[in-house]
Amino acid sequence: MTGETPPAAGQDLLAVCQICLQLIADGDGAVWCRPEAATAERGDRGDQETWSSFTLEEMLAAPDERVHWRVTHERCEPATGYLIAVERIRTWPAYLHWTAHLMGKGWFASTNWDDLILDTLDPTSTQPGLRPATVRDLGHRSVGD
Ligand SMILES: [Zn+2]
Repeated sequence: MTGETPPAAGQDLLAVCQICLQLIADGDGAVWCRPEAATAERGDRGDQETWSSFTLEEMLAAPDERVHWRVTHERCEPATGYLIAVERIRTWPAYLHWTAHLMGKGWFASTNWDDLILDTLDPTSTQPGLRPATVRDLGHRSVGD
């Protein structure tokens, strides 16, 4: 444990907690999701607590049934399910490598990992999650145009 040390030089990515909005130091948190939630929602019981929290308007507008990835301190919201310790996803190559690794998981397509990546790459984003330590060129923004 290194305590609340700032990110070390050479790290490409900062992890920002979705609960307290503070940086997550190595050993203090994870990027995680609960893939089993995806299969549970396809079952006949569903997730009543989740659905009852949406209004009909919200459900008609943009129902997003995907499993959402979380980036949190262990003390703010303990990681459960599939987790990647923040210290294992501190560089762009690590992020890319995890992406390739996750693509081999049968449940991967039912998660919002693509949103996590796109938000990391968006220099205008103010969302917590995985943030670049330094803003880079925006040449990649023409992908898919
Ligand atoms: Zn936190």
